Amino acid sequence: MARIGVLALQGGVVEHLEHLQRLGVAAGPVKKAADLEGLAGLIIPGGESTCLRRLLRIYELDEAIVERFRAGLKLWGTCAGAILLAKRVVDGDPGLALIDIEVARNAFGSQLASFNTVADVPAVAAAPIPMTFIRAPKIKALGPGVRSLLRLDDYHAAAEDDAVLVTVFHPELTPSLAFHRYFAAKCGLATAEVDEAAWRPADWTRHAPLPR
Ligand code: GLN
Repeated sequence: MARIGVLALQGGVVEHLEHLQRLGVAAGPVKKAADLEGLAGLIIPGGESTCLRRLLRIYELDEAIVERFRAGLKLWGTCAGAILLAKRVVDGDPGLALIDIEVARNAFGSQLASFNTVADVPAVAAAPIPMTFIRAPKIKALGPGVRSLLRLDDYHAAAEDDAVLVTVFHPELTPSLAFHRYFAAKCGLATAEVDEAAWRPADWTRHAPLPR
């Protein structure tokens, strides 16, 4: 069965795996090139982009990911993951550089300027989606072929082209499964029906139970 992998070198790995599990999507951590075998999609999680970029090199995963991407692997970068996927990084070095966007790192200020918000993303879900921003980047510009999914103030918070999804916030740290469901569909994978209504808006840290 096709699976979604979560890059597991550094950063928020388990939360992504658990959201995929809640949706009934087969998922596993990716620590070496062989783990990319049989994946329909790969999530590059939040963490620290310079650290992740170096670890990708050390583990020889950068070239392996680009190779699989050229063969059809779909990618989703959250926060630091979005920085690694951006072709242009203001005052910084690009990492994998696989989507034509320009990002500015740490664009909201210090770690203390992290925040939660709720926004409508009509392409992704009918109901408003909760979002957690942690020392997030801003997507400042989109190249041709890249669509904005969510524009806020002076930046795009989510964008995509046909093969890559980027979000500057962390859906995996909220109770919402909407972006994980959206990415699974982008990868051509079916997801289970989950009743999110009972728990979604009430409490940011309360998640749906994991299936047994
Ligand atoms: N500030 C981090 C960076 O520049 C990203 C933070 C995150 O992934 N939550 O890499």
